[in-house]
Amino acid sequence: MVASAERKFPVPLANPETKPFWEAAGKGRLLLKRCRSCGDVHYYPRALCPFCGSDATEWRLASGDGTIYSYSVMRRSEVPYAIAYVTLDEGVTMMTNLVDCDLDAIRIGQRVRLVFKPTEGGPPVPTFTPA
Ligand SMILES: [Zn+2]
Repeated sequence: MVASAERKFPVPLANPETKPFWEAAGKGRLLLKRCRSCGDVHYYPRALCPFCGSDATEWRLASGDGTIYSYSVMRRSEVPYAIAYVTLDEGVTMMTNLVDCDLDAIRIGQRVRLVFKPTEGGPPVPTFTPA
């Protein structure tokens, strides 16, 4: 199945906790939060570490490389698309879209890399494509 049109992505909502994340996205960079107290990396970005509650978190640039953990193809949509959980090499799993690929060829465990896709009037959103 080949999608004839590009799917339009909704504009992401930014709040004070995620503002630096979306500013970096505008420059094509994916940021993660790392806790200086327990050392764990988390996503989505939060002011307090979800593991230990510390507010000593810092932004880290992600490699943009990851692996498909699970996925689902939405075929009833006007433009069929795939959503997925991608586990980044940094260890966090993010819900995202798989783009620029054959929807029938997606496999769990497949290596993917980051690609930002434009939204209408907002910052680009992080999506992934087969590596
Ligand atoms: Zn922590």
